[in-house]
Amino acid sequence: MKEEPMTEPSFACLQCGKTFSFHRHDKIDTGKDPSMKEKVRNGEAFAVTCPSCGWHTHMDYSFLYREEESHTLIYYANTKEIYESAYRYMTGRTGPGWESIRGWIRRVVTSREDLLEKLLILDGGLDDRIIEIMKGLAFVSMKQHQPDAGADTVLFDEGSDGNHYFRFSKDGRVEAAYAFERPMYEKIKNGLAPLLPKLSGEEVVINSQWAAGTMKRIQSL
Ligand SMILES: [Zn+2]
Repeated sequence: MKEEPMTEPSFACLQCGKTFSFHRHDKIDTGKDPSMKEKVRNGEAFAVTCPSCGWHTHMDYSFLYREEESHTLIYYANTKEIYESAYRYMTGRTGPGWESIRGWIRRVVTSREDLLEKLLILDGGLDDRIIEIMKGLAFVSMKQHQPDAGADTVLFDEGSDGNHYFRFSKDGRVEAAYAFERPMYEKIKNGLAPLLPKLSGEEVVINSQWAAGTMKRIQSL
C-alpha cells in the first residue's frame, strides 16, 4: 500500500462548534512507535480534545495496524470502499511490498469491537481461526441449553479476573458467558492442524461466517 501523505483533518467540535485539527493515524506501525501498541488497545491513539472547550471524544476511521514483533497486519475498514481495497491489498500479491508481508498474519475487520477481539486473541498467543470455531461451537451449545436465550452475538473477551470468556449478547446486553477452556482449545487446534492450511488458505476475513462455513466443510470431509 502506498504511503499516504500525513493527513491532519479538521473537525468541528460537537460541543462549542469551533474547528480544530487532529492527527489521524492511517498507518500504525508498532515497529516505528512501540507506544502505539498500548494506545490502540486502550483507545488513546484515537482520542481528541477540543483546544477551545476541552470536549473529549474518540475518532472512528479506517487504518492499517502493523505489529512488527508478532508479524501481524490488521486492517480496520469502516466503509465498504476501504474494505474492498483493504481486501485486495491483504490478499493481492501484486502491490508493492507484498513479498515482505506474505508470511505475516493478515486480517481485515469491519468493527472496532472485532479489532479489539483480534488483539486480545493475539496477545493471548492464540489462533483466531480456532477461537472462531470455538465461538461457533459455544453458540450451538448455548442454544441447546438455553433455547429461549435471545443472544445473537458471541465475543471472546477477558474478564476483570484476567480469565478469558465467550460472552453471548444481544443489543450489547450480556445474556450468558462460558469460560474459555484452554485444554479444549489445544484439542481442537491439534485435531485441525493438518486441515487448517487448506481450510483457511489465504483468507483474511476470519469471522463467524468463516467458522460456520469451515465447520460444514469439516463435517463433509
Ligand atoms: Zn469545543
